Amino acid sequence: MSEPAAATSSGKQEDLNLYRIVSRQFDKAAATLRFPSFLLRQIKVCNNVYEFNFPVRVGKQMRMFRGWRAEHSHHKKPLKGGIRFAEHVDADEVMALASLMTYKCALVNVPFGGSKGAVKVNPYVTPVDVLQRITRRYTAELCWKRFIGPGINVPAPDMGTGEREMAWMADTYDGLNHGGIDNFACVTGKPVSQGGITGRSEATGRGVVYGVREALSFPGDLKRHGLTPGLEGKKIVIQGYGNVGWHAARIFVREEGAKIIAIGEWNGFLVNRDGIDLEALEEYRLNSGSMLHFPGAETVTDNPSAVLEVECDVLVPAAVQNVITQANVERLRCKIVAEAANGPTTPGAEAYLLKNDVLVIPDIYLNSGGVTVSYFEWAKNLGHMRFGRMGKRLSANKEHAMLDHIEQATGRKPDPAVAEALGRGADEVELVRSGLEGTMVDAYREIRTLSRRKRQIKDLRTGAYVVAIKKIAAAYDKLGIFP
Ligand code: NAD
Repeated sequence: MSEPAAATSSGKQEDLNLYRIVSRQFDKAAATLRFPSFLLRQIKVCNNVYEFNFPVRVGKQMRMFRGWRAEHSHHKKPLKGGIRFAEHVDADEVMALASLMTYKCALVNVPFGGSKGAVKVNPYVTPVDVLQRITRRYTAELCWKRFIGPGINVPAPDMGTGEREMAWMADTYDGLNHGGIDNFACVTGKPVSQGGITGRSEATGRGVVYGVREALSFPGDLKRHGLTPGLEGKKIVIQGYGNVGWHAARIFVREEGAKIIAIGEWNGFLVNRDGIDLEALEEYRLNSGSMLHFPGAETVTDNPSAVLEVECDVLVPAAVQNVITQANVERLRCKIVAEAANGPTTPGAEAYLLKNDVLVIPDIYLNSGGVTVSYFEWAKNLGHMRFGRMGKRLSANKEHAMLDHIEQATGRKPDPAVAEALGRGADEVELVRSGLEGTMVDAYREIRTLSRRKRQIKDLRTGAYVVAIKKIAAAYDKLGIFP
């Protein structure tokens, strides 16, 4: 087990094992429910974990790699969860992430059980041809043991993997399952040209923005956190400028008028209290290969994790787990911790934040946009048709007819921008974004309503777990598994 404990500022040891942390979070929520203990145990336990070693050629030598696929819950099928490529991953971490997937899917009404996979490899220093061989061999191992398939278990990207790896996985699965008409539904997060869906790569980051925006839309809830409603002008700090962090930053600025005042990576961070120009930064990063020493901000390299301590309204950890611990929580100066990453805050740190009126928007809610849009992609693959294809023309014609009618009735031409927006029907990307927005808004309101109704629930994480556990229990009840 990696990182079992860390020293806190008081010198005590803090448990950093993510599986035990998730179990504690579950227990806290379960204690507010009157369900039979065997039902709660069945929901909590990780059903099975496949751990395996496999050979891959690296240069002129063969090297062994270790992989995992954990299946946390089979109450819905298929199972779903990302694939992480990381140097320090282990079985407990994969089981913890699989558990989070189960609760996340239940919370946002995505009909999957939770799963997660990983390979112990550093993707940032491994040559692309080796990464391709690792991904293909890993997929073959999953095929041979029936841990992948459109109706069995459907992986997706996570840290260290992306569209490229998903395309290799789909291709490998297709090659080993000749003639399967639904083969490309074996994995989501694929490039659009290979069965992916428009809007998947941005989905987790976009979901993060919708979730924070929703939390900032209830004025009565915000006073005790010292916050005003709305994202416009809010100062935001992001740790982890990868898939999730990059998309979230872009959407916070472009669509919500927020300011990104600091961005952290593993090797340093940028800070500019007037707001970092993201487009200029992107150009700089493409040319130099790194965001550090971008002329539009101050670069700090001596203590990269100090990015978390930059004063802001919203702190978005979007990298790895256990970054906000009892060792650094007292130095944070934010009003909201928006958990884009999985497991960034330890229970001890969360207790401190809640006591100090910092709003914590939990991972199982906030980063569920990825799996929500993965669900859309899977459904699209099984339907073999792009969303919007049947209805786009029809809705465009109806919108045109309505505009003509308004023009005749009022004698005035509609605003050209409005006419343009209305008269073209919905594209796939618009449908995906509206489905994602509706999902994030509804889930937040469900958690909030329940939390206000139940006195024992004092934080959003516990509320989110309670909503999820209730739905999973109802699914088990329907299956008639328990007498
Ligand atoms: P990614 O690999 O695309 O990006 C992660 C970024 O974090 C990289 O740029 C990396 O250099 C940086 N990083 C790594 N260690 C760091 C550290 N100690 N300090 C600062 N930066 C560090 O991964 P991602 O897909 O963006 O995932 C980020 C987090 O979001 C993970 O916790 C993941 O589980 C979670 N998540 C991702 C998705 C998804 O759809 N990709 C969905 C749900 C949750």
